[in-house]
Amino acid sequence: MGYNKSKTGLNLENTYIELPDIFFRRESPSSVPKPRLVVFNYSLAASLGLNSKELQSNYGVDILAGNKVLEGTEAIAQSYAGHQFGHFTMLGDGRAVLLGEHISPKGERVDIQLKGSGRTPYSRGGDGKAALGPMLREYIISEAMFALGIPTTRSLAVVETGEKIIREDLLQGAVLTRIAASHLRVGTFQFAAQWGSIDDLKALADYAIQRHYPNVDKDENKYLAFFKAVVKAQAELVAKWQLVGFIHGVMNTDNMTISGETIDYGPCAFMDTYSSDTVFSSIDRYGRYAYGNQPSIAAWNLARFAESLLPLIHIEQDEAVKSAQEAVAEFENIFMDNWLSGMRAKLGIFNEEERDQELIEELLDLMEKEKADYTNTFRALTLDKIEDVKMSNTEEFKVWYEKWHERLKRQPESKSSVMQLMRSCNPAVIPRNHRVEEALEAAVEKGDYSVMNKLLYVLSRPFAYVEEQEEYAKLPKASKEAYRTFCGT
Ligand code: AMP
Ligand code: MG
Repeated sequence: MGYNKSKTGLNLENTYIELPDIFFRRESPSSVPKPRLVVFNYSLAASLGLNSKELQSNYGVDILAGNKVLEGTEAIAQSYAGHQFGHFTMLGDGRAVLLGEHISPKGERVDIQLKGSGRTPYSRGGDGKAALGPMLREYIISEAMFALGIPTTRSLAVVETGEKIIREDLLQGAVLTRIAASHLRVGTFQFAAQWGSIDDLKALADYAIQRHYPNVDKDENKYLAFFKAVVKAQAELVAKWQLVGFIHGVMNTDNMTISGETIDYGPCAFMDTYSSDTVFSSIDRYGRYAYGNQPSIAAWNLARFAESLLPLIHIEQDEAVKSAQEAVAEFENIFMDNWLSGMRAKLGIFNEEERDQELIEELLDLMEKEKADYTNTFRALTLDKIEDVKMSNTEEFKVWYEKWHERLKRQPESKSSVMQLMRSCNPAVIPRNHRVEEALEAAVEKGDYSVMNKLLYVLSRPFAYVEEQEEYAKLPKASKEAYRTFCGT
C-alpha cells in the first residue's frame, strides 16, 4: 500500500493495487510542457482537507498537471469493459490515471484521478489527451449537479497543458482533476466476469462492498444484497436526474458507477423545453439515451451488472438468475417511489393521495403539448408568478391550476410551508446550454474565465432565488437549430 502525506494536504493511499493484477496497470501521467491552473475549487479543496495555497503553487500545479507524482504513491490506469450503445467491448482508462485514494481529515476516502493525462495501455488508437472545452464543461456541470444535491463525481481543478492536441482542429489540451467516491463501474464487473477468474470477480465484489456498502457484509447472501444496494442507489440517482431534467447522454455501462454517483460528463445537458424524447448528443442517433428512456436504460445496465455477478449470487445458475431478475425488477418500484415523492415536493405536496400521479402527469403532458420550459414552469409555480408560465392562458392550464390548488388545500400545511418546500426542490437556475456555451467560448477562445466563474457562482446555490440569478433563468433567443452536444474526446 502506497502512503504519502504531502504539504498539499494530499494524503494518498492506493488500496486498488491490492486487487488482482488484471484490474489495473501501473502508469504515470504524461508530462506536459506548460501547465497553467485555470480553475480551482476552493470549497471542495477545503472540504477534503487540502491546502489550496500549496496546490496552486508551481509544486501543486505540477501535481495537478501530472508532471509530478508524489513519492511513495503509485498511479494506475484501471481496466474495465462496457456496453457502449448496446455493444460490449473492452475499454479501460484510456485517458486517465488514478493518483490514489485521498483520505480526508474526516476519514472519507475519495479517488483522485487525472483525466486527459496521456496514453495508457488502454488507449487503443487514442492520444490519451483531453481538450480544454470538454474538461471545463465537466467541471461546470458536475459542480452544478453537486449544488443541486445530486450524487456526482466532482471537479477539483482544470489545468491547461500548454500543448495543442489534434482533433478536427488543433485544440488546447487540459487535465481535469476528478474526485470520486470510487471509479468502480458496472463495466469493471463486466470486465471481471468476461476476462477474470471467479476469484478475481469475488475479490472485486468484496472490495466494492468494503468501500461502498460495508453494511451488506453480514448478509446471508452478501453479493445479492450488494447488487440490491446498487440497484437502490441507481434508482434514487436516476429519479433525481429526471426531477431536474438532466440528460446524461451516454449511459453506457462503463459510465455507471457502483457508488451511485453520476459520472462522465460528456454530451450531457439539461432539458429546456419539456419533452420525453429530448436528446442532445450528436452521437445518439436513435435516441437510446433520450430523457424519457433513462430509467429503463439504467435498469438495462443493471441487468448487465447482475449477469456479471451471477456466479457469486448462487452456485445454481437458475437460482441466481431468478434472484437477480427479482432484484432488477425492484428498480422500477424504487425509481417510481422516489420520482413520485420528488414530484410531490416540487408541487408543494406533503401528504400522499392516490391521484397525485395523475395530477403530475397532467402537468407534464401540458408542458409537452405547449412546449413549456421544464425548469421555468416549476420556477414560476414556486414564485406563484403564473403569468410566467408559458401556457398560463390556456383553458387546460387554468383547469389544472385549480385542481392543484384544491389539492394543496387537502393538507394541513400552510401556504408558506408549501412555498418553502417548493423553493427547496425547484431550482431557480440550472446550467442552461447557452450559458454554458457562452462561458466555454470566453474561456477557450479568449482566455477569459470571468464568465465561467460568474456562472459557477450562480450555479453554486440553485435554490437561493436571488435577483442576480434572474438573468440566468432566461431562455436563449429562439434558434432554429437544436442544441447539440459532443463527446468529450
Ligand atoms: P468516455 O466516452 O469518456 O466514456 O470514454 C470511453 C472510452 O474511450 C474509455 O475507455 C476512455 O478511456 C477512452 N477514450 C476516450 N478518449 C480517449 C482518448 N483521447 N485517448 C484514449 N482513450 C480515450
Ligand atoms: Mg467513460
